[in-house]
Amino acid sequence: MNKLEIALFPCLQDNYGLLIHDDASGRTAAIDTPDESEIARQCELRGWRLTEIWNTHHHWDHTGGNIALKEKFDVKIYGPDMIKGRIPGLDIAVGQGNEFMFGRHKIYVMHTPGHTKDHIIYHVPDAHNGQGAAFVGDTIFTLGCGRLFEGSADDMHASLSKIMALPDSTALYCAHEYTLSNGKFALHVEPDNAALIAAMEAAQMKRAQGAPTVPTTVVAERMTNPFITAGSALELGRRRVLKDSF
Ligand code: FE
Ligand code: ZN
Repeated sequence: MNKLEIALFPCLQDNYGLLIHDDASGRTAAIDTPDESEIARQCELRGWRLTEIWNTHHHWDHTGGNIALKEKFDVKIYGPDMIKGRIPGLDIAVGQGNEFMFGRHKIYVMHTPGHTKDHIIYHVPDAHNGQGAAFVGDTIFTLGCGRLFEGSADDMHASLSKIMALPDSTALYCAHEYTLSNGKFALHVEPDNAALIAAMEAAQMKRAQGAPTVPTTVVAERMTNPFITAGSALELGRRRVLKDSF
């Protein structure tokens, strides 16, 4: 089977734009639409024609470019419809257990409430030469998780557990670069976690060079993410004030 290509690029203040491209079918999906002009430019740079949008949740920094991109490229928009009318331009409602084809590649949708009630993620088992990738939106971040806007800590814990049940090598494409601030909090919760200390050092080096700390992997988060390693961290995290976790 031909290989899928994934492109990641910064958008807005700390979002990541993400594209996935299947050469055989000529399809290209944008995962969320933080910045329509940057997404269009990144497609053009690569000679990819945008054919669809896969939304993870309704927040403006994930759907703000939907309508402009739909008008420009005539794309089909996939997304959650559990709460009606939230996703601008939605064409194909998807939720837990749904599958759809992207060329010859199967995409699996999982419901991961917590950040929002209707948050979903997209799992691509055969991306990265069989290693797999998941577009996790604002559910899990490198060394952290999404702020609980609509769900409970229990909802988020169950959602993180679903993600941790994916194969260890699965690349997790988070929607924001929050790693350094997440890591500070993580070290406060687990100051003696050697894997976490090493991950934070690596993240600091990457950020100093302007490089992304996304994607992470299932196995890396299992060893370092305090919302997974420590049961109490979600309760602590709920009380912390994050000014920009949308
Ligand atoms: Fe966001
Ligand atoms: Zn959000």
